Amino acid sequence: MDAGERLQRLYRQAERGDLVHFLSGAEPGSDEALFAFADRVRREHVGDAIHLRAIVEFSSFCRNDCLYCGLRRSNRGLPRLRMPAEEIVAQCRRAEALGFRTIVLQSGEDPFYGREAVVDLVRRVKGATGLAVTLAVGERDEEEYRTFFDAGADRYLLKHETSDRALYERLDPGLSHERRIACLRVLKRIGFQTGSGIMVGLPGQTLESVADDILLFRDLDIDMIGCGPFIPHPATPLAAEPAGSEELTYRVVALARIVTRDTHIPATTALAVTAGDAGRASALCRGANVVMPNVTPQPWRRAYEIYPNKGRTEVFDPALLERLRRTARQLGRFIAEDAGDRLPSGRRLS
Ligand code: SAM
Repeated sequence: MDAGERLQRLYRQAERGDLVHFLSGAEPGSDEALFAFADRVRREHVGDAIHLRAIVEFSSFCRNDCLYCGLRRSNRGLPRLRMPAEEIVAQCRRAEALGFRTIVLQSGEDPFYGREAVVDLVRRVKGATGLAVTLAVGERDEEEYRTFFDAGADRYLLKHETSDRALYERLDPGLSHERRIACLRVLKRIGFQTGSGIMVGLPGQTLESVADDILLFRDLDIDMIGCGPFIPHPATPLAAEPAGSEELTYRVVALARIVTRDTHIPATTALAVTAGDAGRASALCRGANVVMPNVTPQPWRRAYEIYPNKGRTEVFDPALLERLRRTARQLGRFIAEDAGDRLPSGRRLS
């Protein structure tokens, strides 16, 4: 069976074996065929728009101790900073003035941001701006998620990180894989546009488990899928492990597009950190349709060091928006003007 036939089969009915085949990249020419097909599926199902989401990282406090993450509570060298609510609202206003239509409010699992504090924050941002609000504040119980939704939050990001249960529980001590997946199901049921994702190239991760990750995105009907390379942080137990590969990350992006069709898939920050603007452009040609610029100012930006070099730029540079517009034009694409809700296309490739 040639790559084209296999891709058609994958598009119609994804199975683990075909996913592993393309993830391995072992067949000569399979990457080129995969990337071109993913780009076609992207164009057909979500069009040429590139959606921008501004990210504000508002707290580097975290109760968890994930082995890969610079925010882990055992990392005593990291400054722990929490942005005051007025400052968060000011940053959201600023993002809106720059032209963003969506804000992602992300933090470690900070006990200070319990139910009331998050509800208050969402209300303030919704009251002060017309932005769609995406929360990424970790695992909560159903009732809490519901109050966030009722307060006006539109979307929620919670990556499942890996579908390999044993690996997940080894890397995220004290967390349960079952609960992570249950949280995603609850978020969907409540009505959030729900994001998940994985780190590509985690130590101990197999291609089979990455194939399962992609099938899980489909089975949970995930709306937004963020996949970036694992980047070792020197102050974590995984400091000496190799980083996830750029090529494998592109394959995951492309396969996630083919299997889930009309989802929103970012060219992730982790990819931009390892591969720069060119990496971002490559992902956009291989299935991605979203870019998430980090608008967090200093000193909070530096404090949110989940992996090295993340806060390396001093401040958000509005010139990035001009560069993204130019990249979009060069790729025959355009920057969307709307908030970029997921709109199931119902289309099929002929
Ligand atoms: N606390 C929230 C949560 O658990 O979803 C959001 C913050 S968490 C730091 C955001 C994401 O950073 C994680 O889902 C993980 O995928 C990513 N991340 C953490 N450490 C990383 C690393 N070393 N390399 C790449 N991504 C990493």
